[in-house]
Amino acid sequence: MDFGLTEDDRLIRENAREFVQKYVIPQRDKISYSNSIPEDIIRKAAEAGFIGFTLSEKYGGAGGTISQMSSIIEELARGDVSMALPVYVLLLNGWPAMLEKYGTEEAKEEILPSIAKGRTFFGIGSTEPSGGSDVMNEKSNAVRNGSDWLATGEKVYISGVREALGLPGGGGFLTLLRTGDKKLASKAFTTFALMIKGTDGKVRNQISTTLFNNIAREGLSTGGFSFSDMEIEDSYRVGEVGQGFHIIMEGFNIARVYVAAACNGAAFEALDMGREHLRTRILFDQPLGKQEGLQFELSELYGKLESSRLLTQKAAWTLDRVYKNKERVPLSEQNLAVSLAKMTGPPTAHEIITKVMVWHGAAAYTKDLPLGAAQGGVMSYYVGAEGGINIMKLIIARELLGKEFLSYKSG
Ligand SMILES: Cc1cc2nc3c(=O)[nH]c(=O)nc-3n(C[C@H](O)[C@H](O)[C@H](O)COP(=O)(O)OP(=O)(O)OC[C@H]3O[C@@H](n4cnc5c(N)ncnc54)[C@H](O)[C@@H]3O)c2cc1C
Repeated sequence: MDFGLTEDDRLIRENAREFVQKYVIPQRDKISYSNSIPEDIIRKAAEAGFIGFTLSEKYGGAGGTISQMSSIIEELARGDVSMALPVYVLLLNGWPAMLEKYGTEEAKEEILPSIAKGRTFFGIGSTEPSGGSDVMNEKSNAVRNGSDWLATGEKVYISGVREALGLPGGGGFLTLLRTGDKKLASKAFTTFALMIKGTDGKVRNQISTTLFNNIAREGLSTGGFSFSDMEIEDSYRVGEVGQGFHIIMEGFNIARVYVAAACNGAAFEALDMGREHLRTRILFDQPLGKQEGLQFELSELYGKLESSRLLTQKAAWTLDRVYKNKERVPLSEQNLAVSLAKMTGPPTAHEIITKVMVWHGAAAYTKDLPLGAAQGGVMSYYVGAEGGINIMKLIIARELLGKEFLSYKSG
């Protein structure tokens, strides 16, 4: 076993760290509190190769690994603890990867290079008002219209609606739609690249959008879109008819590793701030860090962060065996590694950030420090984004006990 980094891995992490110092830290407050990630940061992130980093060079990507991408995301989250930028970048790596693997050549050539240039957004459209955890009960559907499709339904709490509408090359979502009878269970779903604004810059007119008023992560929107008899050309179908449920579960596994990496990054930064505060804050004539009680807290939190980072690295390494080395890794092994990382990352980050806020006293309750933004940012992944923590626990239990113990219906 080797915990060291290859020369390539080291350079990629250093490059991300330099990017953060140069472009992210100076605009940190703007990202956290101004309802958008400054355009120049997106452009520079694309130029640096961070967007679509794992796509193949043919489509404008860098052919990078999931482990390398995770290290970039961790560094971005250290710079933007509100999570807007790391989440923007992680979505634009996780979901385009599914389009590259399963999409038609026509859709890939149109959308993927534009994503890699930072001109087009591409996220995930799964959640519906009936509940994000209960994917098998989702109702939005598509029916055949000649060789193409007519789609009707509603998606909610979707990251990137404002961004998809705002970018010159538009954007859309790998959208899960019901294409078959309920009896088909997980095989009743198909995924489509549903573009709410085309790469030609034209907003689709059969679609209406809305935005939610988020408590945090303000730089990246969540919104919804509804559509009625919306035409989707068959070339935008991603994968076979009936394969959609499995495609989004595969995409979730990749995205969940990145989510854990983002949470680790925010926690890492918060703990660094906490250490500095314990060293420098003088109370009762001595540094706060001289208090043994707080030293114990620091040590425990550091251990939890290290554990979370190791779980994330193991999950990334497991998926690299699948996607880079083309090894046949059993799905149960992939699910376990990924769900452990996603189960651990957000609560650990939330605990660390909350403790560091307490160490800072009243100052933590102002926007002068980024800790409140960080706490709200990681909370998105606690309550549900990319799968709630309880869902991760159910997946782990399913792998440990067997499918027959599952308390809910799954594909
Ligand atoms: C900031 C943010 C961004 C998001 N971005 C996207 C996006 O880009 N695309 C997208 O499709 N969705 C997105 N989501 C939605 C996210 O996927 C859902 O929040 C998630 O799937 C949970 O669904 P829900 O919110 O409807 O909660 P529910 O499904 O109603 O679940 C509520 C709670 O119950 C728990 N729970 C559910 N079932 C069980 C069970 N059987 N046993 C025990 N506990 C259970 C869940 O873990 C959760 O904590 C986003 C959410 C947030 C907060």
